[in-house]
Amino acid sequence: MIIDGHNDLVLHRWRGEPSPHLDLDAAGDADFAGGFFALYVPSPRLPDPPPEIPYALPLPDPIPHAEAARIAEELFAALLELPVARATSADDFREGAVTAIVHMEGAEPIAEDLSNLERWYERGLRSIGLVWSRPNAFAQGVPFRFPSSPDIGAGLTTAGRRLVEACNSLGILVDVSHLNAQGFWDVAALSSAPLVATHSNAHALCPASRNLTDLQLDAIRASGGVVGVNFAVTFLREDGSLVPETSIGEIVRHVDYLVEQMGIDHVAFGSDFDGAVVPEELGGVAGLPKLVAALHASGYDHEDVAKITHRNWLRVLRDTW
Ligand code: ZN
Repeated sequence: MIIDGHNDLVLHRWRGEPSPHLDLDAAGDADFAGGFFALYVPSPRLPDPPPEIPYALPLPDPIPHAEAARIAEELFAALLELPVARATSADDFREGAVTAIVHMEGAEPIAEDLSNLERWYERGLRSIGLVWSRPNAFAQGVPFRFPSSPDIGAGLTTAGRRLVEACNSLGILVDVSHLNAQGFWDVAALSSAPLVATHSNAHALCPASRNLTDLQLDAIRASGGVVGVNFAVTFLREDGSLVPETSIGEIVRHVDYLVEQMGIDHVAFGSDFDGAVVPEELGGVAGLPKLVAALHASGYDHEDVAKITHRNWLRVLRDTW
């Protein structure tokens, strides 16, 4: 069974576009059991990262709450049309079925006074990324830069701190992927739940602003949290380049490093399917068995692979929800 930290299938359904990676008809054969399905209110299309390294893309403008709330309703309606169950308990994940964790990537649809948070919880929201990279009422994200430290900009706002506390008390997972370093450390100091980065990689191997430093990995391990390894080639490769002909071995390289830094209990998948360019060799959900085979070939035993593919996610969900 494979549980995954991030996909953008809902965005494609909302736009009426085909899904590049997440063919739900292929899920059964690939042992894909779902995971975090993002409700992401898009900024106007960004230019692809320029092929030249280094790059430093400007941050998109903030999206006003009212507009984000309206679009989030449409995104949620698109999610409800998918042939998937929704998870409110770790026990909801089952072999042979696709189950979705309703995840908000960027908290703009939540009112700054949190007045609509409980309504979203009642509708099944169980995970919030405080920011997608653009700033909002709660926090600041990392601009897309390579090479770059994630230490760019200020930490959580007062509303951001209240949102973390409210998520802790309701049992909503707080995702630190896309958050800048100061925001990460604010969440680490404040949150009573395991620290989770749903789709981020090791900065030591690929110095993109979106990746996690060794100090951040230490904090995630100490909290009992997990990092979902992102399959985006630009966050995997040492040179940060947008090269589709990147080997699956680059994913294994990050798994190896994260396991070495944090231990086998803190590493999982966070594919970014339908949200990024992933290794051509993997292709999409149908290629997941190739990745599992690569982990076995690299020396991970059955127990290790079970932790990486689903048990670590399930533990963190139980501890958080
Ligand atoms: Zn993302």
